[in-house]
Amino acid sequence: MTIDGQKIIHAVMEGSQIRESKGIIPLFGVYLSIFSTDYYNRLSFEFEKKMSLLNLKDKSQSLLVAAAQECGYATFQGIRNSWEWDEIVLPMIATPEDQIQGFTAVAVAFGWGDLNVRQLIPGKKLVVRVTDSYEAGGYPEQYGNATVGKCYMLRGVTGAFMDLIYGADYPDGCFTFLAQETHCRAKGNSYCEFAAQRSPDQSVT
Ligand SMILES: [Zn+2]
Repeated sequence: MTIDGQKIIHAVMEGSQIRESKGIIPLFGVYLSIFSTDYYNRLSFEFEKKMSLLNLKDKSQSLLVAAAQECGYATFQGIRNSWEWDEIVLPMIATPEDQIQGFTAVAVAFGWGDLNVRQLIPGKKLVVRVTDSYEAGGYPEQYGNATVGKCYMLRGVTGAFMDLIYGADYPDGCFTFLAQETHCRAKGNSYCEFAAQRSPDQSVT
């Protein structure tokens, strides 16, 4: 069955009106909060900048991707074990590949971008395109045009989606896949695109 993204977005929008006293949104089995993307971008990109001064730019980028991947891995594990998932998304899922579509629809509903699955080779490769990544939007405003992709969060999340479907059972499957950002608006492309494939050594450095 095709995944009805609008139905998922609607459910998240409705559910996100419920807040605990500290502003936490208990939804899809995980704790969510409204967060400023400008602030998130600042933390990431300033971390990268400071690490560059220590000649650790590559390390900073791999750490940011790894943090996003671990977060995506744990968060979407929680989401797919929630009653909201069982009630709203599960009835639309017929194959493991549908589950990826379910994940991307939830990510869209969370405001992470307009994730669109362009290619999915079961067990091997996932290509996701995003035209409104907030990292790609925010980077040039503060730092000018980039020479490499800057969407570390979506890059990690793309890998995490594959880990959850085709990696070892949770919690042992994280980093089975790694994603590259092949196109990025921050470096002048018209969209950002992420391609996740099996990690050569299934570990992160
Ligand atoms: Zn990008």
